[in-house]
Amino acid sequence: MANNNKSSFITVPGFCPDCGSVLPLLGEKGGITCYTCKREWDAEVFGDMEMTHTIHFNTKDTYVSVKEEEHDSEDDAEGPTVERECPQCHNDKMSYATLQLRSADEGQTVFFTCTKCKFKITENS
Ligand SMILES: [Zn+2]
Ligand SMILES: [Zn+2]
Repeated sequence: MANNNKSSFITVPGFCPDCGSVLPLLGEKGGITCYTCKREWDAEVFGDMEMTHTIHFNTKDTYVSVKEEEHDSEDDAEGPTVERECPQCHNDKMSYATLQLRSADEGQTVFFTCTKCKFKITENS
């Protein structure tokens, strides 16, 4: 047989260890369900990809665009929202998340994300 069927998927962060497909990015709950084999994986399947708030936010864009097709109700559940006008689309609601920087003295950074167009603002307080 010419087809040497060795199922040795290289397990790298972001790929399903079971079937080798690219996994969707982490959601709010910290678990991932493989689109292909429907297996659920822990956040640790991403290996040393650090789950900091910053990375979470960076990946959110991709996450949202991937999710647009299936459109879950969780889509907008990004946490607390404030009444704040989005400079881009003038929507009056933005969700926010805070990130504590290196030391407490330096205050924290607040990330605002428009609930409508996902425009992001960061603000130091
Ligand atoms: Zn899979
Ligand atoms: Zn907006």
